[in-house]
Amino acid sequence: MVSKLPLKHLFQLPEGVIYLDGNSLGPLPTTVPDHVGAAVTDQWGNMLIRGWNDAGWMAMPTQLGDRIGALIGAPKGSVVVGDTLSIKVYQALAAAIERVPDRKVVLSDTGNFPTDLYMAKGLLDRLGQGHELRTVAPQDVAAAITDDVAVVLLTEVDYRTGRKHDMAAITKRAQDQGAVVIWDLAHSAGAIEVDLTACGAEFAVGCTYKYLNGGPGAPAFIYVRPDLIDQVDPALAGWLGHAAPFDFDLEYRAGDGIERMRVGTPPVIQMAALAKSLDAFDQVSMREIRLKSATLSDLFIELVEAKCPMLTLHSPRDAAERGSQVSFAFDHGYAAMQALIARGVIGDFRAPNVMRFGFTPLYIDETDVTRAVDILADILASKIYEAPEYQTKSRVT
Ligand SMILES: *Cc1c(COP(=O)(O)O)cnc(C)c1O
Repeated sequence: MVSKLPLKHLFQLPEGVIYLDGNSLGPLPTTVPDHVGAAVTDQWGNMLIRGWNDAGWMAMPTQLGDRIGALIGAPKGSVVVGDTLSIKVYQALAAAIERVPDRKVVLSDTGNFPTDLYMAKGLLDRLGQGHELRTVAPQDVAAAITDDVAVVLLTEVDYRTGRKHDMAAITKRAQDQGAVVIWDLAHSAGAIEVDLTACGAEFAVGCTYKYLNGGPGAPAFIYVRPDLIDQVDPALAGWLGHAAPFDFDLEYRAGDGIERMRVGTPPVIQMAALAKSLDAFDQVSMREIRLKSATLSDLFIELVEAKCPMLTLHSPRDAAERGSQVSFAFDHGYAAMQALIARGVIGDFRAPNVMRFGFTPLYIDETDVTRAVDILADILASKIYEAPEYQTKSRVT
């Protein structure tokens, strides 16, 4: 099969930039500006309030949910878009806890993204029912799933190391022990193959501004296993999750199916961008994307280890155990990353010493990887990163 990848023409990337940070914020798809412009001018501008019906704004959260569902092995009607990922973590955890009322432990790992842990702790403390958030090292999760665990809340791909959990095996172990499972797919959706149906997890959440290229502030998504959705009591009982929002009942009645996980008014302009950015995934399968990202990240590791001996691999060496990113530890990592960005190779830095590089085969190819490593090797050999302008930390790293 001839690979369609990369599909660089689908993205507006600045001249001379090699973008290795699609794991934080995907680049701008070329069709988005006109489409968003039309949504603003023709829909908001001309239709005004009628846009909710005439432009189908109200149906967008479930329509986009179905399209994302197709990328993560979720059937139609099981995914809905809205809010931010932090909110969706809270909502999923609140629903999950209710399913296991006799247990008090929520298990996560120390590699989880902090907001997931903060949201979990905040919820558990407020419940005031004696719940405990227990975190163990990522590699110890399976062994820590004991019969006192109510909910296992994990991010499939570790944002710092790229290490990937075995989603199927952990889900099975948790369910065998009577626990409910929530997967955070922030670094999975659009990056690697996910099959929620096969794995059988009860809940999943994720964001759309990373590998799905929905743009800064694009909404999150939540999945609920279809057989459970009508039993879920949405913790955030917003009016748009009501069975009949425009009856303006004083009593909350949860809507049908996944609609009940909606909360408030959806971000229409941002969803317009997402509707276009998802088009890229109509052209190529997740399998093809995943295989190519493994090839690119393997090449990157090989070249960095050959040309940049001062860096230490901080990701699993086996591509099957990684997501779509590779991290290297380096004591001067922050400054070196700033110097690299100044030369047009954009990755990012995660405290305390991790240089992080994302590989998105939609717009990165072998030539980019080779060039990026040559520039990195040059920066390290010349120690240009010691220059004062690379030492000051910005608000966002
Ligand atoms: C990126 C990321 C988030 C971000 O949450 P927001 O509410 O969208 O800011 C949360 N969790 C994980 C695992 C992430 O990777």
